[in-house]
Amino acid sequence: MPLIIISGFPSSGKTTRANEIKAALLSKIESTCSSLKVHHISDDTLHIPREIYRDTKKEKSARGTLLSAAERVLSPNDIVILDSMNYIKGFRYQLYCKAKEFSTPHCVVHVGVPIDISREWNKARGAEGYPEDVLEALLMRYEEPNAMTRWDSPLFTIPAHTDEKAPVDDIWDALHNKAIKPNSATV
Ligand code: ADP
Ligand code: MG
Repeated sequence: MPLIIISGFPSSGKTTRANEIKAALLSKIESTCSSLKVHHISDDTLHIPREIYRDTKKEKSARGTLLSAAERVLSPNDIVILDSMNYIKGFRYQLYCKAKEFSTPHCVVHVGVPIDISREWNKARGAEGYPEDVLEALLMRYEEPNAMTRWDSPLFTIPAHTDEKAPVDDIWDALHNKAIKPNSATV
C-alpha cells in the first residue's frame, strides 16, 4: 500500500495532521477487516534534531535517513506516512521513484497554512519549536508541491482551519483503488 508524503512549512501542523490521518486510516482498516499496517515516520520518530536544518550536509544525511526508514517498511501491505517537511521537489521525486520501485501508490498531502500562522505556531511551541533563523531559512527555501507534476500527484491540500478535517476518504479511495486496480482510473 501507499506512501503518503506529508509536506508543509515547519510548525504548520504536519504531525497533528499525520496523527489525524493515521487514526482515520486505522479505523478504515478495522472497518474493512484489512490487514494493512500503518507506519508513521517523522523527524521526531527518527530523532532528527531541528538544528540540522542549519547545515546542508547534515540535512542531506537526514533526508537519507528518512528515505531509508520509509524504504525499510514500504510494501504492498504497509501504509507509510512520511511526516517531514519534504520541501525539496527533487526529494519528493526520489520518494515517488521509491514508491514506483515498490509498485505501490503514493500521494502528497500539503498542509497549506500561511507563513504567518506557521511563525505564530512555532513561537507558541517555545523551545520545542524551530530556532527562528532555521524557521526563516526553511520558509524561504520551501518548494511548494505542484499537482501538475507526476511526483506531487495526486495532491491533497489541507487548509489551516482546525474545523476542517483531512480528506481521508479521498486519500483512501485514491490510494486503495489504485492499489487494487493498478491499471484503472480512480473513481
Ligand atoms: P509540524 O509537525 O508541522 O512541525 P505540529 O503538528 O507539531 O507541526 O504543530 C506545531 C504546533 O502548532 C503545535 O504546538 C500544535 O499544537 C500547533 N497546531 C497544529 N495544528 C494546529 C491547528 N490546526 N490549530 C492550532 N494550533 C495548531
Ligand atoms: Mg512534526
